[in-house]
Amino acid sequence: MLIDTRNRRYPLTLDPDDVFHSHIGLIPHAELIGMADGSVAQTSLGRPMVVLRPTLADFIFSMTRGAQVIYPKDIGPILMYADLFPGARVFEAGVGSGALSMALLRAVGPTGSVLAYEIREDFANRARNNIESFLGPGQPMQIELRNAYDGIDAVGLDRVILDLPEPWMVVPHTETAMRSGGILLAYLPTVTQLVELHRSLERSKFAMVQTIEVLERPWHLDGRSVRPEHRMVGHTGFLTTARLLSEHVEVRSPRRNG
Ligand code: SAH
Repeated sequence: MLIDTRNRRYPLTLDPDDVFHSHIGLIPHAELIGMADGSVAQTSLGRPMVVLRPTLADFIFSMTRGAQVIYPKDIGPILMYADLFPGARVFEAGVGSGALSMALLRAVGPTGSVLAYEIREDFANRARNNIESFLGPGQPMQIELRNAYDGIDAVGLDRVILDLPEPWMVVPHTETAMRSGGILLAYLPTVTQLVELHRSLERSKFAMVQTIEVLERPWHLDGRSVRPEHRMVGHTGFLTTARLLSEHVEVRSPRRNG
């Protein structure tokens, strides 16, 4: 991406025959190709442009999105609390625009795999495009056009990550598709959904159920004006995790350590 001195961002896909055009001048892509990450290029009008490879968070904000994506604020904690690790076998539903999928793929690495179900073909295709344009082709991910409420065609999964409206419909399927000790994580926007999910988990072989909400408050730092920003995103979704046991057992609500 190119960034001007007013912090406007221009995402690009480099092509040696293409030219970047803006009101502050041109830069042929050929000049950018081979430049070190973090360089400063000059436009044809002599104006500086910062040259940076986008981070995954930058890409999520700039990519084409159809369904509501999970934002970096929640993706970071999802990776930690669902304990994604290199080599993990993960199930994900739905895929949406693929924002979370990309983070899962990075966490499981080339020895892991992500099996995903998505009911909308247009979303599945867009997710595939987004994933390939950021991570490159040949990722260990399989996206199937299937309804996750009908079952999961896998066994021995390590992790199941759900971002769809009725995750409680997937809880019974997860009990057979995931190994014991595995972690289920569901992302849900509303309290009524949360209550329904907790009810289904209470009747299952899942235990150690925890729900958290993550708040991120950006700060404004400009000379002596150092304070929180006036606006923040008030709500996105709740993250609920649970661990699958070999049989049903009542475990009291765990105490959170810090
Ligand atoms: N986590 C995604 C966003 C997912 S939005 C991201 O970060 O980009 C929810 C998605 O779930 C939508 O694409 C929707 O089509 C899909 N979906 C809804 N119900 C489903 C079901 N029963 N099975 C599979 N996918 C489903």
